[in-house]
Amino acid sequence: MFLKSVKLFYMSNKSRQTDSRNLLDRSHAAVWHPCTQMKHHENFPLLPIARGSGVWLYDNDNKRYLDAVSSWWVNLFGHCNPRINAAISDQLGKLEHVMLAGFTHEPVVQLSERLRELAPEGLGHCFYASDGASATEIALKMSAHYWRNSGMPGKTQFISLENSYHGETLGALSVTDVALFRDAYGALIRQQATVPSPDWRKAGAGESPKAYALRCATALEQHLQQFHSELAAFIIEPLVQGAAGMAMYHPIYLRRARQLCDEYGVHLIADEIAVGMGRTGTMFACEQAPAPSCTPLPLAGGGRGAVGETMNGITPDFLCLSKGITGGYLPLSVVMTRDEIYQAFYADETVRGFLHSHSYTGNPLACRAALATLDIFAQDNALATNREKAAYLNEIARPLREHGAVHNWRNTGMVWAFEVGSPHRDFAQRCFALALENEILLRPIGKTVYFMPPYTINNEEMDFLVNRTLHIVGQLS
Ligand SMILES: *Cc1c(COP(=O)(O)O)cnc(C)c1O
Repeated sequence: MFLKSVKLFYMSNKSRQTDSRNLLDRSHAAVWHPCTQMKHHENFPLLPIARGSGVWLYDNDNKRYLDAVSSWWVNLFGHCNPRINAAISDQLGKLEHVMLAGFTHEPVVQLSERLRELAPEGLGHCFYASDGASATEIALKMSAHYWRNSGMPGKTQFISLENSYHGETLGALSVTDVALFRDAYGALIRQQATVPSPDWRKAGAGESPKAYALRCATALEQHLQQFHSELAAFIIEPLVQGAAGMAMYHPIYLRRARQLCDEYGVHLIADEIAVGMGRTGTMFACEQAPAPSCTPLPLAGGGRGAVGETMNGITPDFLCLSKGITGGYLPLSVVMTRDEIYQAFYADETVRGFLHSHSYTGNPLACRAALATLDIFAQDNALATNREKAAYLNEIARPLREHGAVHNWRNTGMVWAFEVGSPHRDFAQRCFALALENEILLRPIGKTVYFMPPYTINNEEMDFLVNRTLHIVGQLS
């Protein structure tokens, strides 16, 4: 008792600064931070965050930062959102967790039903995990296992787009095209082939994004033609390749990918881990695929081809969601799939069933956070409100996009990105540090600066974000 009060006295008499310093040292010593060369933190101190509110994070010295990257793209409706807090608190008083093998509970059933209502038509079955990389693993395994159960055990290969990112576990890395990871972990991975990315920055001179996307679809077609008999699935990030540096592409590519995958009997996996949940302006990016053209393409595989053809937008064979699904509160991911795929596993033999599990599959707290997030979408008409916000940001950003050092300005829904012409080789680190000085959390990818703010950002906060970013770009170009 005495020791404890001495300690409290001692603590309260130290400056807040010193407290933060201690926390940094302790974190440096005990916590191995993600995606980080720890030695770099000798020069760039970690930032201790004490609390959050709306788009703002506050450090231990009560300095604020506008979270312009939604804390690695997960936050949708602000930090410490009262409605999500209330839902989790309510669930805490009822049931924190129960295993999902042999048991079920109201939150996971409700969430599955509501996702089925919202998702592209036909995705009636939800399989849960805890993070995005696991969702990728599940989709890959489920696809190959489907072909095995369907008498085509040779279909075990996958393809992804150039510069794809689908997570960092070994299976997910095999369909992730990041040179750094390939160098370090290539020997552990059964690396899969890539096809050209429709990223419009790669279009030829005078070539429209749409023409370029169609040219890339032709390359996909050639690959499918040659390898379809061994291919299980094609995995893509619809509309925006996030980790590639917010590479954006024309939605016609989604339509063509759906048609070609149908034609060649290859599954299409839509990894909407980053772009789902309203980020691209529609609830799911797949909804933005244009209607099929009047001259229908020949479809092989009987009924299978019909799924994507009935409406605007496409139905992938697998839809992976995570990141924003709980509003940025708790780890949760889900893979949604079609009835026909589910049925291929539905049998008396255990080995025909899908063999995959995680301890926290379908955690009730995470499901309640997700349900509360879906409630906010409906109550606040968030998709329509986001359209207004995006229009406002595009309007006020004119001086930024017209700045001489700003190139390839682009926007899809609530994602903005541009490259900065800067002499600094360590641009990303400098920009990150300078942004913090300017009360913004920006985390450039190479020389690409992007905004992916929480949807609750208001006009005043957007003004702040754009003006400060303009200042930062001026300093670093
Ligand atoms: C973040 C991300 C993942 C991986 O999700 P984690 O939860 O970080 O494992 C997979 N795919 C895409 C497109 C992502 O953006």
